Amino acid sequence: MPITIAIDGHSSCGKSTMAKDLARQIGYIYIDSGAMYRCCTLFCIEQGLIREDGTVDVEALEPRMGEINVSFRFNPETGRPDAYLNGENVESRIRTMEVSSYVSPVAAIPFVRKAMTAQQQLMGQKGGIVMDGRDIGTAVFPNAEMKVFVTASPEVRAQRRYDELRAKGDDVSFDEILKNLQERDRIDSTREVAPLRQAPDALVLDNSHLTIEEQKQWLLDRFKEKTGE
Ligand code: C5P
Repeated sequence: MPITIAIDGHSSCGKSTMAKDLARQIGYIYIDSGAMYRCCTLFCIEQGLIREDGTVDVEALEPRMGEINVSFRFNPETGRPDAYLNGENVESRIRTMEVSSYVSPVAAIPFVRKAMTAQQQLMGQKGGIVMDGRDIGTAVFPNAEMKVFVTASPEVRAQRRYDELRAKGDDVSFDEILKNLQERDRIDSTREVAPLRQAPDALVLDNSHLTIEEQKQWLLDRFKEKTGE
């Protein structure tokens, strides 16, 4: 029987890399729930729903939630799924610092969470899924058979994100990234609805000093333990 795997943790700690690779190895579907909140944020930016002071126009957004349709399609070139917003591939546009700077306030809005959680539960109703995010093991799939909580020191996480964005040619500074991820963690952990928390039954992984290969192996070993495969 395919199981449900929830991978939660702090910003930029490599959850999605681990989750994507595990899904590919075991033939499960991978869903990046953060990409869904990033799509909502891109919609807000493009539709002028972010005010000049940087706050979200919540009243204007609420009646328009039905216009936000997020889906994923496998990209054979990268071997990974790309996010689509209303049929358009937005995979690279949702990864900018601009989106990163507004995503946590958008994701803290209760009706945004309600809509995304419902879609995530629908995507995972048959199991055979690896989903990563902040509230997957606590709110979206509290009965997931396998839960992992990933963390690493803020400096290590900022350095990894810095290297990744620089490699893509983005002109970002290390300090800007460090501040952004600390601020996102703060908002994500203190919001009222489904805050970022370690589920009591989650396996904890601090990957500050692990290579990507070591993390992948750790996750695969835990999966094998859980399923007896
Ligand atoms: O995973 P990623 O860093 O792309 O997620 C972007 C943001 O989306 C997070 O900082 C958080 O504010 C929000 N998020 C969330 N719940 C999830 C996944 C992401 O609130 N399950």
